[in-house]
Amino acid sequence: MAGDLETQVGIVGAGPAGLVLSHLLRRQGIDSVVLEQRSRAYVETRIRAGVLEQGSTDLLIETGVGDRLVAEGAVHHDVNLQFDGERRSP
Ligand SMILES: Cc1cc2nc3c(=O)[nH]c(=O)nc-3n(C[C@H](O)[C@H](O)[C@H](O)COP(=O)(O)OP(=O)(O)OC[C@H]3O[C@@H](n4cnc5c(N)ncnc54)[C@H](O)[C@@H]3O)c2cc1C
Repeated sequence: MAGDLETQVGIVGAGPAGLVLSHLLRRQGIDSVVLEQRSRAYVETRIRAGVLEQGSTDLLIETGVGDRLVAEGAVHHDVNLQFDGERRSP
């Protein structure tokens, strides 16, 4: 644990932001410690998002953590606009 005490980057929260930041720093050779108040089980099972923007999926794939996303994700092609209760597709 001596290495942890020397780590200069502390990240509060193991949500998507904290975990992706830690991952990106690690790829640059920068260690970090992520401090999370909830349990590991909570972090791993809490659903953060059903729909991810293209930029998010590109980042996860490009940085090597997109295997499950590619294998199990469904690509969403549609855009729906709704006015006065009526849905219209462009
Ligand atoms: C119902 C719902 C549906 C959503 N659907 C989508 C979607 O389809 N697509 C999409 O892109 N986004 C969606 N979002 C938004 C998405 O979940 C958030 O944008 C994302 O979770 C934000 O990530 P974050 O890491 O900033 O924060 P969080 O996910 O909130 O993570 C913060 C973490 O920090 C921890 N924490 C907080 N304070 C402390 C502390 N003092 N010390 C230690 N740990 C701490 C918390 O326990 C938590 O684990 C949805 C959100 C909700 C609620």
